[in-house]
Amino acid sequence: FISKLPDVGTTIFTVMSKLAHQEGAINLAQGFPGFDSDPKLQQLVTKAMSDGYNQYAPMPGVYGLREQIANKINTLYDSDYHPESEVTVTAGATQAIYTIVSAFIRPRDEVIVLKPAYDCYEPAVTVNGGAIVPIQLKAPLYKVNWSAVERAITPKTKMLFINTPHNPTGTILDKEDMMELSRILKGTDIILLSDEVYEHIVFDGKKHESVARYPELRARSFITASFGKTFHNTGWKMGYTVAPKALMEEFQKVHQFNVFSVHHPSQKAFATYLKEPEHYLRLNDFFQQKRDLFLDLIKDSRFKVTPAAGTYFQMLDYSEITQKEDVDFAKRLTKDHKVASIPTSVFNLHQEDFKMLRFCFAKDDETLKKAATILCNI
Ligand code: PMP
Ligand code: GLN
Repeated sequence: FISKLPDVGTTIFTVMSKLAHQEGAINLAQGFPGFDSDPKLQQLVTKAMSDGYNQYAPMPGVYGLREQIANKINTLYDSDYHPESEVTVTAGATQAIYTIVSAFIRPRDEVIVLKPAYDCYEPAVTVNGGAIVPIQLKAPLYKVNWSAVERAITPKTKMLFINTPHNPTGTILDKEDMMELSRILKGTDIILLSDEVYEHIVFDGKKHESVARYPELRARSFITASFGKTFHNTGWKMGYTVAPKALMEEFQKVHQFNVFSVHHPSQKAFATYLKEPEHYLRLNDFFQQKRDLFLDLIKDSRFKVTPAAGTYFQMLDYSEITQKEDVDFAKRLTKDHKVASIPTSVFNLHQEDFKMLRFCFAKDDETLKKAATILCNI
C-alpha cells in the first residue's frame, strides 16, 4: 500500500507519556489534569447508567445537553445558536475537527494553518487530500500577521484554522484580531474552524474572544470545544461543535457514519452539570493560581518565561541552558532529571524559536513543587 500519511509518526503525546512512565518522571508533557473531575459529575454519570441510559444516544446528541451548550454560548458570547440545528455532541474536539475537515475538504483544497499548531490539524487535512498553507507566528508574542494571512488566500482556500487560547504558546486572540479576521474573510466562502477548547482557561482578567460573538465570523464558523479540558476528564473524550445550520447539516452527514453518536450516560450527566455556570466559570481562577505558582517556583531557574495568557501550558525558553535541539533536550530532561515536557518543534514552531519546551501545569501543587525544584537545578 501507499501510506496516506508517509510523514506522520506516533504523536509526541504518546511518545513523551510513555517515556515519562518508563523513566518514572513527573509528566508535565501530555496535557491532562493530575486531579480528578468533580465527584458530583461522576455520580451523575453513574446515575444515568443505573437509570438505563445505556443504548445509543440521539445522533446529534442528547437534546437537553445541546440546549445547555447553546445556552452557555449564547449567554457568554451574546450569540444565538439553536440547540436543534446548530449543535452536535462529539467524542472530544479531535473527532469534531477530523469530521469537519472530512466533510468539506477535497483533494487540492487549501487550508490555512497558523503555526505552531496543535498536532491533529495537519494530518486531518492531508488524509483528505488537502494542502496546508502555513503562516508562521513569531516569538516571543506569536501575534498573527493578518496581512500575511490575507496574502495567503487564493481561490483554492477552503478553510482557515484558528485556536484561542493557543496550544502550545498560551497566547490569546483579542478583539482587534477578530475584527481583522472578519475584515479579511468578508466576501469569501472560507470556512473558519475555531478551536476554542481552552475557552474557560484565560488569565489576568482578560476575556475569551469567541468567534460566536462576531456575526461575520459566526456565519462561516465551526467552533470546537472539549469537556475533557473544562471538567478534568480528558479520558471521557467528550466535546461538541457548533456551527450555522447549513454547515452543521454537512457535518452531521459525516458524523452519523463516523461515530453516529457518543457516550450516552456522560451526555445525560453533562446536561445536568452544565446548568450551574459556576462549574466552568471558576476555571480561570483555578488555573491562574496554578500558573502563578509554577512561575513563582521556577523564577530562579535559568529558563526564560513569557507568562501564558491562557491554556494550562507554559512554554519555557531553555536557550541559556543549552543549544541542544528541543526533542533531544526534552528526552534528556525526562531520562536524566525525571521531568517530562513537550518539545515544541513538533507543533512546527519556527526554527529560530526551537529552544522552547512546553510544560503542563494542570497538576497538584506538590507535583509542581517537585518538578520546579528539579527545573531550578538545571
Ligand atoms: N485542540 C487543542 C488545541 C487541544 O489542545 C486538544 C487537546 N485536548 C484538542 C483540540 C483535542 O481535544 P479532545 O481531547 O477533546 O479531543
Ligand atoms: N491536547 C493535549 C496536549 O496538547 C494532548 C491530547 C492527546 O494526547 N491527544 O497535550
